[in-house]
Amino acid sequence: MLTCSLEVETAAIALAMERAAHYYSFTTMKKEHEKLFVLSDSKSAINCIRQRSAMRHFHSILSQIRLAVHTLQGLGVKAVISWIPNSGIYWNEQVDEMTKAALQQVPDIGNNVITFAACKYIISKQITCTWQRRWDRSPTVRTTYEYVSSVGKRTMFPARRCTALSYSRLLLNDSSLRIHQHHAGLVDTKECECSQGVDDAFHYFTDASC
Ligand SMILES: [Zn+2]
Repeated sequence: MLTCSLEVETAAIALAMERAAHYYSFTTMKKEHEKLFVLSDSKSAINCIRQRSAMRHFHSILSQIRLAVHTLQGLGVKAVISWIPNSGIYWNEQVDEMTKAALQQVPDIGNNVITFAACKYIISKQITCTWQRRWDRSPTVRTTYEYVSSVGKRTMFPARRCTALSYSRLLLNDSSLRIHQHHAGLVDTKECECSQGVDDAFHYFTDASC
């Protein structure tokens, strides 16, 4: 069954942790406190596991990892996932060779099968890319773009309603700052009352003299 490389890399990390948990359950060589390093050359897989929200398409792998971490903790083993470069490391190259050898033995399957999780991930990635491209090229709401240039991230609004309103107005160039008031024709000058510069967001938040 076809899948995406991210799913394969994360599944490999989950498998490594499960095997380690199995090993530590039976070995008599274990110290009271152990540290297990799981090494991967896939930064995207590591980031995906670290930011659990990015793993939403791979529920079963994430729950495998969570369970393995829980089992390891119960055995006094702390698991650490680390990145390594993908060349020049003996065991990593051994893994690559074993993967290639294993692939030779896989029977030829059609190109029309894909895992459900990989399918969801690929579609979601494609939609996010299209959304980002439209946001990058859109001629409108460029002020908001200056503050929030990446799509797909949940906007965190302040809990207090009036602060949240100010925040939204700031994103839309429609605050009580003089630069915005001047743009709307409500005041004669953009200059701040402190006479130290234009009363814009940068001046308001960063200029100590104001
Ligand atoms: Zn000022």
